[in-house]
Amino acid sequence: MARIIIVFLLLSTGTLAAQSWCGAKAYDDPQQKRFYQEFLSQAKQLESYQHVRNREVEYIPVVIHVVAREGFNPVSQAQALQQLDVLNNDFAAQGDNIGKLLDEFTPLVVPADIHFCLATVDPSGQPTTGITFTATTKEFIGTEYSGQFEGRRVIQYDELGGKTGWDNSRYINIWVGECQNILGSATMPGAANFEEEVGIIIDIQHFGAFGDAGFYNEYDRGHTLTHEMGHFLGLKHIWGEGNSIDCSDSDDIDDTPNQGGPYYGCPEGEQISCELNDMYQNFMDLTNDRCLAAFTRDQVARMNNTLELVYPDLPSSTSCNAPIAFFDEWFDELVWSTDAMNHKIIVYHPVGTLGKKSIRVFSTEGKLFFEKEWNDDQSVLINLNNAANGIYIVNVTMGEECRSKKVVMY
Ligand SMILES: [Zn+2]
Repeated sequence: MARIIIVFLLLSTGTLAAQSWCGAKAYDDPQQKRFYQEFLSQAKQLESYQHVRNREVEYIPVVIHVVAREGFNPVSQAQALQQLDVLNNDFAAQGDNIGKLLDEFTPLVVPADIHFCLATVDPSGQPTTGITFTATTKEFIGTEYSGQFEGRRVIQYDELGGKTGWDNSRYINIWVGECQNILGSATMPGAANFEEEVGIIIDIQHFGAFGDAGFYNEYDRGHTLTHEMGHFLGLKHIWGEGNSIDCSDSDDIDDTPNQGGPYYGCPEGEQISCELNDMYQNFMDLTNDRCLAAFTRDQVARMNNTLELVYPDLPSSTSCNAPIAFFDEWFDELVWSTDAMNHKIIVYHPVGTLGKKSIRVFSTEGKLFFEKEWNDDQSVLINLNNAANGIYIVNVTMGEECRSKKVVMY
């Protein structure tokens, strides 16, 4: 309960303070600070002539390392895919809170042209689900540091009872395990103390979007990963890195309003600090999951340039299938069980689902007979008992992709 108590205390005193649910690793030694300054000047140089962008979508493979105690919130393939849906919608500027942005900030919002997918090939070239599972008996392995091993993070090493990450030039490693007092953490470019620790850690209770199934309803929509991915791709907190609330600190991003400190909870209407309206719905603030809505254009540019400057081999990695190929393959494996007499069809996938989809049934004249959102369930029941005998077209839609199948009712 510690983090909730902290948040309530902050709300009740109304002060801006440094306490954070985010454990992102800041630049805390001179060498790391020099790296950041050099990175920043190169990124700003790129951004100065990249106002008009016409990039292709970059596909980035991620691998999820679940390190969990037995019986403790197991992470399924469906849950991982659904968490990536949240992440991808957020990066596409189509997240669930996008409509809540204040009008003055909507012109700043652009899609990021970055799409994350579960790795389909492991470092040795073998097929993979993109998820590894490691059993542990440690309670808070996600926030544990090794005393004997130069202060390394236990969850990130086989030798310490965690899981060693995959080649971080080709995959983004996301560790999911129990954390104490934080929801997640990430290494900013050049800020990892050890090369093996480049990546993201998410508290197992805040991985995915499960509504009231989460322990902490303020953070149950899956946006913690979006925030940490922002750090991983070079973004600081929107108020800057330090603890000062005197407006002297900056996030080094031009189009975000200067902000005195973090917001918590989910404020409404105009909130002002540093004489400006604050963008407390920015993914890099600390408001809760019903509030976090968007990245700005300059944040998006910074993330793309981080990929180019720091992780150039991630997008060219072949271990990530583009969704269209993946969707085709998935659609081809669907099993159609038709009960023509009773005008019912059960459609199911033998392995699993692919995240958010919809299914619609039309007559050959284009009249809609059936419509249903199809999310994490492995199967869907189509009931056409009010429809006449004849031929029907079943459309399955995911994102902008749609595939069709003809069925006959007689
Ligand atoms: Zn953070």
